[in-house]
Amino acid sequence: MARAWEDKIRKVEPYTPGEQPKDESVIKLNTNENPYGVSPEVKKMAESLEMDILRKYPDPKAEELVKALADYHKVDESQVFVGVGSDDVLGMCFMTFFNSDKPILFPNITYSFYPVWAEMLRIPFKTIDLKPDFTIDINDYKQDNGGIVIANPNAPTAIYLDKAEIRILLEANKDSIVIVDEAYIDFAEDGASVLDLVDEFDNLIVVRTYSKSRSMAGLRIGYAISNKEIIKYLNDVKYSYNSYTMNYPSIKLGSAVIADEDYFRSVLAKIKNTREWFVSQIKEMGYIVLPSSANFVFASPAGISAKEVFEAAKENGIYFRYFNSPGIDNYLRITIGTDAEMERVVEFLKTL
Ligand SMILES: *Cc1c(COP(=O)(O)O)cnc(C)c1O
Repeated sequence: MARAWEDKIRKVEPYTPGEQPKDESVIKLNTNENPYGVSPEVKKMAESLEMDILRKYPDPKAEELVKALADYHKVDESQVFVGVGSDDVLGMCFMTFFNSDKPILFPNITYSFYPVWAEMLRIPFKTIDLKPDFTIDINDYKQDNGGIVIANPNAPTAIYLDKAEIRILLEANKDSIVIVDEAYIDFAEDGASVLDLVDEFDNLIVVRTYSKSRSMAGLRIGYAISNKEIIKYLNDVKYSYNSYTMNYPSIKLGSAVIADEDYFRSVLAKIKNTREWFVSQIKEMGYIVLPSSANFVFASPAGISAKEVFEAAKENGIYFRYFNSPGIDNYLRITIGTDAEMERVVEFLKTL
């Protein structure tokens, strides 16, 4: 029997994160983590962290981290907002900026957390079909809306939407906040980011994460860059909810990692090389592979269903991500691991 308090509850359909198996021998290509660890500089910094400081609250403004990011991206500190992973930053953005009766817009195939936040926060939303080739047609976003979210490169397709297209989208939507989720932008070409457009468009928010390119998913760091008015609105909501989002180790290590640009560049280059090799290998096996600008590929096998490949791989200790959703249910999302891992994956796929 239903209890009386049940109808007072906020009932939600939660996001399903990728599995995190305990078994260390698994080749884990299901959550787009970076296979290479953090730089030696960061390890050194980790050893010097002061444990006694943990009795105190951390800096609520995370100033050291904000400054490191502002310097790195050549923006003012007032233009940077940090949070507990970009999921936290994006959730805060939804809460702060999507507050109208008009629907927010995002593609129907994109990061599957967007509809979850919208539902949880009671934000009306409308999804827009991708084109048959899985690309975004920005003309579809020239309609009345309460805001727009675009992941670029998109997930799980890995396809990059040209900066010139985003500019047109921004021009056409000057009365709405446009969030560009650049979780994977470091794996795209140099200059692919729309970060430099935040000076030109006061409605643009760019969101980034440490979880993929910076090999630090475990620390939970994400950030937004925009103009200082937008960042002030975000901070007002944040300080109305939880003042101390960034913990001391995250502030310290998150700042330290920024300094090691050479290591960062070398890791990105390795992953991109491995990606090109892997794509050529599976294309030879007849796979359809969407053009990837990310650290994963979205691919459809030939002569066997994606679900069968997913299950057989799992049996063999190789984890991919499979989405049982219309339009993408014959695709696998495969994170790019180390060369050795990807060689084993290719060998395995050949056996099917
Ligand atoms: C991984 C991912 C995020 C979230 O990353 P965090 O670990 O919370 O920083 C956000 N958006 C997209 C598109 C992602 O793939």
